Amino acid sequence: MSEITSFAPGRVEILGNHTDYNGGVVLSAALQIGITANARRLSDQKIQLSSDGIDGVENHCRKAVFARSGRWIDYPLGVATMLTKAGADPGGFAIHFQSTLPHGAGLSSSAALEVATAVALMRLYPFSLPPMDIARLCRQAENECVGVNCGLLDQASSVFGKKDHLVFLDCRNETVDTIPLPEHLGLLIINSGVKHALTGGEYNERREQCFEAARLMSVPALRDASLSQLDSTPMPELVKRRARHVVGENERVFEAVEALKQGTPEALGALMIASHRSSMEYFENSTPELDLLVSLVTKEPGCFGARLSGGGFGGAIVALVENDKAEIIQSKVVKEYNIRSGATATAILSEASDGAIPA
Ligand code: ADP
Ligand code: MG
Repeated sequence: MSEITSFAPGRVEILGNHTDYNGGVVLSAALQIGITANARRLSDQKIQLSSDGIDGVENHCRKAVFARSGRWIDYPLGVATMLTKAGADPGGFAIHFQSTLPHGAGLSSSAALEVATAVALMRLYPFSLPPMDIARLCRQAENECVGVNCGLLDQASSVFGKKDHLVFLDCRNETVDTIPLPEHLGLLIINSGVKHALTGGEYNERREQCFEAARLMSVPALRDASLSQLDSTPMPELVKRRARHVVGENERVFEAVEALKQGTPEALGALMIASHRSSMEYFENSTPELDLLVSLVTKEPGCFGARLSGGGFGGAIVALVENDKAEIIQSKVVKEYNIRSGATATAILSEASDGAIPA
């Protein structure tokens, strides 16, 4: 059989910060950049894996029981293992990966690697699964084989992305919808180049505070709480502020979906700005560098809004910009940021793009 190819994109979180483990909702977009898998069948149950920029070819065998190595091959081998568990019967294969996605930049290269592998293997040894099951299977590979406890957002965005649409994920029901984003709008992602050394407990501490707030309001998760309920329930001030961010984020996501359906994308920009402010004031997961980037980019004509994207405490911001002004905004903001912060920003411009399995 000749070679087959699959492509899975990276993703960026647009709105809905820290909502996933609170049973909430999130908006993301699949990017134009991602990972391509070139695959062919091999005889004798052989597996060969290689990737641009990584020396050598990794040789394995389909019959071997998966054992975590702590290296990149855990992702594709994990996916192959999960596919077999799901009833697929892939024989031997060779896959070569090519990526246009920076590793570890919060754009989810890991999910792109998993989804590209799953789609390639399902084409090579015909096997079909509903798209959400593919996303779940890839998450399971990352959870169980790689040992990273991630939610479903990365894989679902990489599978379900759609050109000029945002992906709406309901983390509790594990359902997705795609919401149109006007064609003239693009996404500008600027990495601050600064990752703050965390003392270790920040993420877990935030999670615990969210769970505590839900307990004190007698709701299963913050998804089920309203801002007025939060206001009227006595609780420690810090816990209340953390919860206010997450409850507000859920509300903002629903508002953004409505705004986009009404054809008013400016409202999405305003909600992104409100989200960043809420991160600064209530969740305290922003940094001076992210704040500087948001304040610089939102001053530019053609920028509708911006916010930190992902976990926070460093990393990147995402801005909603008009495509024809994007390049000029990017160069102005990066230049000014580098001068003022002493750090080096890197920027990526992308339109909302198709996922691995376009609808
Ligand atoms: P992110 O998903 O945000 O990019 P992760 O730490 O979750 O960051 O995943 C990055 C890991 O995924 C890398 O350390 C590497 O093991 C693997 N990976 C990503 N892209 C590639 C690639 N093109 N080839 C091989 N491995 C890759
Ligand atoms: Mg990842």
